[in-house]
Amino acid sequence: MTFNPDAKIDSSKVSKRGRNTAIGVGAGGGLALILALVGPLLGVDLSGLAPLFEGGQSQQVTEEDLSHCDTGADANENVECRMVGAATSLDDYWKGVFARSSNVPDYVTPGFIVFESSTSSGCGMASAATGPFYCPSDGSIYLDTGFFDQLRTQFGASGGPLAEMYVVAHEWGHHIQNVLGTMNNLNLRESGPTSDSVRLELQADCYGGAWANAASTQPDGSGTTFLKPITQQQIADALNAASVIGDDRIQEASGGQVNPHQWTHGSSEQRQKWFLKGFEGGPGVCNTFGPNVDL
Ligand SMILES: [Zn+2]
Repeated sequence: MTFNPDAKIDSSKVSKRGRNTAIGVGAGGGLALILALVGPLLGVDLSGLAPLFEGGQSQQVTEEDLSHCDTGADANENVECRMVGAATSLDDYWKGVFARSSNVPDYVTPGFIVFESSTSSGCGMASAATGPFYCPSDGSIYLDTGFFDQLRTQFGASGGPLAEMYVVAHEWGHHIQNVLGTMNNLNLRESGPTSDSVRLELQADCYGGAWANAASTQPDGSGTTFLKPITQQQIADALNAASVIGDDRIQEASGGQVNPHQWTHGSSEQRQKWFLKGFEGGPGVCNTFGPNVDL
């Protein structure tokens, strides 16, 4: 059990799109930048999504109701409700961080779309093969919960609820970067162990860690923390998830050699290190862009 069973969660933070979601009506050509959880893997090119088909098609988006996701107990039981729980907690956490910070823009809640098989996004068509990602142009997170099975079977992760929520927290971290303008003036087409891409990804991992610690220690309005005290096993699972999606691990798993020049997300070691750094030090220690930062 991870969530406090009586923590109140808010199903309006997540939209669920059904399996028969049709192709969206064209949103103009050109591929938009996406920020995925994992770098290119196993032949799937994540540099951009397939462009939306332009014009003509009717859109049949089936929105499914998540109002059965009401409490922490629901979040413990069901993966969709766990996404609602994670979103409620992340939103609450970051709202608070922004409120306590000076010289920051107003906090904006991201969109969070949970889907099955495929759906349209402001960055193109999303499919399960894309993996979870954040689309800056529509300010939304896209996640097929089937990815969590893939994380265990294909990547060999140990799994567990905190590992799943780390994935959400990482994507939420990209949203925070978007709100703060961190992505402006970065060169995200370049790869390599000290590239802007890697720095951006490691910072998102760090933000994920910062949230994880706070979610189990900071009470909400009614005095209940969202998460129960985090166990060593859960931290190990989250770190394990961060490690199996390190660029070096993925390069090895796909039969290639480890080539740091192609890294876009950071190594297993780096991803674990920055998650833990955020966990221990909060968002203030997540500056991965300084000139003397030891990545
Ligand atoms: Zn990312």
